[in-house]
Amino acid sequence: MNIVLFGPPGAGKGTQSKYLVKKIKGFQISTGDMLRDEIKKDSEIGKMIINDMNDGKFVSDEIVNRLIKNFIFDPQKKDKLIFDGYPRSLSQAKNLDLLLHKTNQKIDLIFFLNVNKDTIIKRIEKRKIIEKRSDDDLNTIIARFDTYMETTKPVLDFYSKNPNFHEIDGTLEIDEITRKIESFINV
Ligand code: AMP
Repeated sequence: MNIVLFGPPGAGKGTQSKYLVKKIKGFQISTGDMLRDEIKKDSEIGKMIINDMNDGKFVSDEIVNRLIKNFIFDPQKKDKLIFDGYPRSLSQAKNLDLLLHKTNQKIDLIFFLNVNKDTIIKRIEKRKIIEKRSDDDLNTIIARFDTYMETTKPVLDFYSKNPNFHEIDGTLEIDEITRKIESFINV
């Protein structure tokens, strides 16, 4: 079972992914975590993306598409993929479909965690204190939310036609969201 978690920064995608990793013995594919790792390592990619990340802008499709490819082609991870923060643009969504098709896979479930801007700002300000992420300051949070809304609207339109698409109120308590997600998983 391959799952896509979709929603603005701070919607709880990471938290629910960790639950899903245990539930379906899956593999979390967090492009945000991978990109932060590249910055930490000060790699070539890290140097290319640090400014965009800190400004709350999206990293290029080319870079993130490259990062996720190995996961999809890894036979040990086949049908156990949990996408957290990917795809975020229509071109990424189409790339994902293509790569899954090439490997005889598909997206089985798409969850859209819907959360409003005020709640996101409050949550990320709290997270900043705990995780100390450099892209979690107030201006960056607002930029990330606005970028998300602009760029991901076409992805939302694309996915919402899919019968496996489920919108979940992301302002609910973590456990309640988990229970809702769980109700769609028959394993
Ligand atoms: P996240 O941890 O998912 O909130 O992502 C943190 C930041 O990483 C985002 O604000 C973007 O700058 C970048 N990022 C993560 N995933 C993607 C993606 N799929 N496409 C473009 N940029 C991304």
